[in-house]
Amino acid sequence: MTNLDSIVSLCKRRGFIFPGSDVYGGFAGTWDFGPLGVMLKKNIIDTWWNYWVEKRDDIYGVDADIIMNPRTWLASGHTATFADPLVECKACHGRFRADKLASGLNEHVTNDEFSRLNIKCPTCGSNAWGDIRMFNMMFKTHVGPVDGDESLAYLRPETAQGIFVNYKNIVDSCYPDIPFGIAQQGKAFRNEISPRDFILRDRECNQMEIEYFVHPDTWETEFDQLLKETDIFLEKEMGLPVEKINHIEVAAEDRAHYSKRTVDFMFNYPNGEEELMGLAYRTDFDLKNIERESGKSMAYRDKVTGETFVPHVIEPSIGVERLFLAVLSNSWDEEKGILRLPDNLAPYKFCVSPLLKNKPELVDKAREVYKLLKDKYTFVTWDDSGNIGKRYKKQDEIGTPKCVVIDFDTLEDDTVTVRNRDTSEQIRIKPEEL
Ligand SMILES: [Zn+2]
Repeated sequence: MTNLDSIVSLCKRRGFIFPGSDVYGGFAGTWDFGPLGVMLKKNIIDTWWNYWVEKRDDIYGVDADIIMNPRTWLASGHTATFADPLVECKACHGRFRADKLASGLNEHVTNDEFSRLNIKCPTCGSNAWGDIRMFNMMFKTHVGPVDGDESLAYLRPETAQGIFVNYKNIVDSCYPDIPFGIAQQGKAFRNEISPRDFILRDRECNQMEIEYFVHPDTWETEFDQLLKETDIFLEKEMGLPVEKINHIEVAAEDRAHYSKRTVDFMFNYPNGEEELMGLAYRTDFDLKNIERESGKSMAYRDKVTGETFVPHVIEPSIGVERLFLAVLSNSWDEEKGILRLPDNLAPYKFCVSPLLKNKPELVDKAREVYKLLKDKYTFVTWDDSGNIGKRYKKQDEIGTPKCVVIDFDTLEDDTVTVRNRDTSEQIRIKPEEL
């Protein structure tokens, strides 16, 4: 099993992910994507968008603003309930999530339950605690030049509400047939009390969410269909084998009160099994909340039957960073130092290099081949540093599937050596055939 430290170190060494604001000693719960990380992340997001939006006729894209009318969060319930139990150590004033200090606690932990366990502060060892209070995790900000309550707004804690507030606009402008979906990819913010586990629990993250609107009578079939399509997406597009993903039917008492079915997709991360994504049946909860808060009807009129109803919703929701880490840890062969990324996600498809850097005839020919491949595939890198062994090692670590080397034989017969990342096998082939 790959350990998390080995992945964190690979990410920093090869330019995938750095600690946020690293030069100032970092900033808790923030991570910056480097050149390779940006490419891999973009490939993951673009593949998701292509699979769910571009290749289908029934899912529409939207890109809503991060700062939304605060009534959004009143309606959705986030203002009242998007909170975690916070407890402060009286000795060192360290603040912690109460439910994470001992096993068997959940976010509804009471003061009585907490004090009975005689929990010691993880920082200083004291067992003197203040009262547990609920801490709202939305990041606050002020809109406009006035700092009062009137200008209070939030950075969105999820992308889903940016979809719901545009539901009516999309119905009125695109006339979709039901069932149909609306997809959004973008940033979301959660002021986690104790961010941890690398990018699994960070304060700023990227989400990919779809709200799929259905007739209330058909939700079960549509749910099963989305579940099936999600499995195919994870396996075929992200290279995550079905057997590595554990589908958990969330029990009624653990589901959100409005949800009649939720499936958590659990992935075995280096530091244990964690949620990769969720598929939830949200009924008409969100659209009804919007009707109440806005006073506007969210009803949909069926074009064929004329029936008018508020659609129900099924929501596949993925955190990009969670998926990124799943892809990375599934691909990382720590022992051999090879990142076995699926070809469609690898930042570079090819690395081109001359066998020797100081032979102009090799370098010139290699430049020619590089241009040929770059024009054709775009994601091609050049490497003439160190010896050939070191170049292979570097390309293995960043997941480049094929290394193309121009040597003296190339000058004779115009073939190049192509080395396969996963097998180390080498073949000779004409560059035009790549
Ligand atoms: Zn303490």
